[in-house]
Amino acid sequence: MKWEIVIGLETHAQLSTASKMFSGASTVFGAAPNTQASGVDIALPGVLPVANRGAVERAIRFGLAVGGEKVINRRSVFARKNYFYPDLPKGYQISQYELPIVKGGEIRILTKSGEKAIRLTRAHLEEDAGKSLHEAFRDSSGIDLNRAGVPLLEIVSEPDMRSAEEAVAYARVLHALVRWIDICDGNMQEGSFRCDANVSVRRPGAPLGTRAEIKNLNSFRFLEHAIEFEAKRQIEILDDGGKIVQETRLYDPDRDETRGMRTKEEAHDYRYFPDPDLLPLEVSEKWIHEIKAKLPELPEAKRKRYGTDFKISPTVAIQLTASRDKAEFFERSARAADIIMFPAAPQDIAFTIVGELAGLLNEAGLEFSESPITSEQLAKLRRRVLDGSISSKSAKEVLAEMWVGKGDPDSIISAKGLKQISDRGEIEKIVDQVLAANAKQVEDYRAGKEKAFNSLVGQVMKATQGKANPAQVNEILKQRLAG
Ligand code: ADP
Ligand code: MG
Repeated sequence: MKWEIVIGLETHAQLSTASKMFSGASTVFGAAPNTQASGVDIALPGVLPVANRGAVERAIRFGLAVGGEKVINRRSVFARKNYFYPDLPKGYQISQYELPIVKGGEIRILTKSGEKAIRLTRAHLEEDAGKSLHEAFRDSSGIDLNRAGVPLLEIVSEPDMRSAEEAVAYARVLHALVRWIDICDGNMQEGSFRCDANVSVRRPGAPLGTRAEIKNLNSFRFLEHAIEFEAKRQIEILDDGGKIVQETRLYDPDRDETRGMRTKEEAHDYRYFPDPDLLPLEVSEKWIHEIKAKLPELPEAKRKRYGTDFKISPTVAIQLTASRDKAEFFERSARAADIIMFPAAPQDIAFTIVGELAGLLNEAGLEFSESPITSEQLAKLRRRVLDGSISSKSAKEVLAEMWVGKGDPDSIISAKGLKQISDRGEIEKIVDQVLAANAKQVEDYRAGKEKAFNSLVGQVMKATQGKANPAQVNEILKQRLAG
């Protein structure tokens, strides 16, 4: 019988506030060690934490985006999660436990097998810990507390994913969403967005199996590989009659494997209790409504609209909404297109955006907002293809010129002499000349030699230096030869 893989993800998104969760220290990445740690962050006796309003607002924005007002807890509670580690001077992390700020909601993903909703268990506010730096050249370890107290939103999914592909799709949608609503910069190298993957396997229909938790995966590729390796490891153990131990594991990208780190603590080991230094967090209806009113149109809503307004497929729509920049670029282009004359223009533009243009920008490390080709220019270029002025092949050449700043597509087309001959009379004249000069091939074709037709097309294209509209050439030739 087959094994089914079960995955639940815990994602830490660093909230993009200027100061920390409970202190006024800066959150800017990359400063000299311990220059951004205040008395609160280094746990001087007698200091008191004060919750950061900007962080709370961002958590609410997230809740509204994944589930609306109903998933925002009007009252949530900060709790102390007690454990010892050198990078945690207080001896506890302030988090939320029994009453998180967001409860429920969902993320919709699209994979080869179709659309699926992944349920969210919760999202809660917490502070990050510091960092231990193991410096071989000094033969010792140091502690950097700049990261201590940085605000995080921990987003916990239900164990609803069934493959590495689904887990990656979920992580990608979530990553795009937190950037879309401007709560996290999404920088994975700097650790602003990182996932823990909980992985287990079971027989379909059986209760959940024992899971392993793979910590701190900071790239989509690592996430995918770690899950694949871990599922295979568990299946091999079970097939051999062994048992899975619940534990925390680390993924080693160099060896593409996961390794045991420690057996997993249970929640009761942390001795959670409400933090007596912080009041319960109360959010008013008025504030929630204000935040909601400022929320941009969400990717999900845009995707639906692209489908109904422009007949864009879900697969393309998901790529267009990978960022707000990209979606806005597309919408501006689509608006510049002549949809009455060319109803397929938005789909055609969308393909160029997710294909060629995305490729060029990616290679150059640019965002859509920094594109050297404007959305209006792109719409104009594609219009020239749709109205038969240039071939798709020439369009690539024009796009390359536009990319290096040569400007308007029409002037590039005339400067390079790329205009197609779409005048029917003119093509007919050339076809007739070619037929007259190639009596032998005409005869061959009529005798059933299909190949002779291609050779005639080739002659016409040659006579026009490749500028005749090929579809028209085909059609006129067929008509003449049938006569
Ligand atoms: P913690 O890891 O902090 O102990 P939970 O027990 O709430 O917290 O689980 C965290 C994550 O593990 C959630 O994303 C949940 O969906 C996932 N999870 C729980 N049980 C399993 C399981 N048997 N297999 C895979 N994932 C699981
Ligand atoms: Mg966990």
